[in-house]
Amino acid sequence: MSKKKIVILYGAPGAGKDTQSAQIAAKFNLFSLSSSKLIEEKIFNPALQADLIIEREKQLFEAGKLCTPSWVTEIINEKVAQLSVEERGIIFSGSPRTMYEAENEIPKWEELYGKENINVLEIKIKPETSIFRNSHRRMCADCRFPIIYSAETEKITTCPKCGGPLVYRGSLDEEETIKVRLKEYEERTLPILNYLSERGYEIMKIDGEPLPPEVTKEIFQKLDPLMK
Ligand SMILES: [Zn+2]
Repeated sequence: MSKKKIVILYGAPGAGKDTQSAQIAAKFNLFSLSSSKLIEEKIFNPALQADLIIEREKQLFEAGKLCTPSWVTEIINEKVAQLSVEERGIIFSGSPRTMYEAENEIPKWEELYGKENINVLEIKIKPETSIFRNSHRRMCADCRFPIIYSAETEKITTCPKCGGPLVYRGSLDEEETIKVRLKEYEERTLPILNYLSERGYEIMKIDGEPLPPEVTKEIFQKLDPLMK
């Protein structure tokens, strides 16, 4: 359907990045490349258990530590190269996550897909919206299944997994935690967006304030002409 394209999507906590990423992947038939999923695929692959590097990374992972950045970059670029051969488009949600990744991944992706085929979007929401959406999260009192606030999930009254009662998770403590996460997002993402701008990318800003279907509509309107 569409030609080989890469979409890079960023968004603050509560901006609906994962929901929108799934919509974009379905609409434009893109492979959704998640670095955490890729890491797990590698370190739990029975065929790779004798590999010393895999063993090292598995130990880091199981200790709850970050995997080695150069290794993560290597497996991501390897996957992108494979998808490129298969003529597949890719969507990244919240990735590259660090400047190290960006500087070592973007030039490779440009070689494989062509700079003109890489699109960058950022879903913007006000800090108050992020705090509101995140602090209105509920969870199941029985199995702790989380319910993230949205116009759709607002109507849910019992746990979709076990039918248990739902309770609010919001608290003042949580508001502080969300503010820290927001600040972290900005501090981490801004340099990457600046790096991309300096390389000549236009960062498409998407208004994340409306309901999710409206946001999807704006994204499709902006992406449609670029994905042909
Ligand atoms: Zn439950």
